[in-house]
Amino acid sequence: MNFNKCSRCGNFYVSEGNVCPKCSPKDNRELSTFKEYIDANGLNNSLDTISGETGISVKNLNRFLNYEGFEQYKQNIDLNSTIGNQGIIFN
Ligand SMILES: [Zn+2]
Repeated sequence: MNFNKCSRCGNFYVSEGNVCPKCSPKDNRELSTFKEYIDANGLNNSLDTISGETGISVKNLNRFLNYEGFEQYKQNIDLNSTIGNQGIIFN
């Protein structure tokens, strides 16, 4: 049996998915909010700004970017991000 650790609440669970069954509805809701935001605004803003506008924490936004289907967006935000993290390359 495989135990997964929920990325939202830290609880262990055995079902499929990125988060535990308890967090799953909220995670899906935030994920679609994030996708709608990207569709409407693109990923030109920093995750800090997106977090402020969507109410989704930066930690969760980062996690969503690792979800399937976000690869293209992730490349985008790595280049454009204004957040002070290691993802920024100074030329
Ligand atoms: Zn959870």
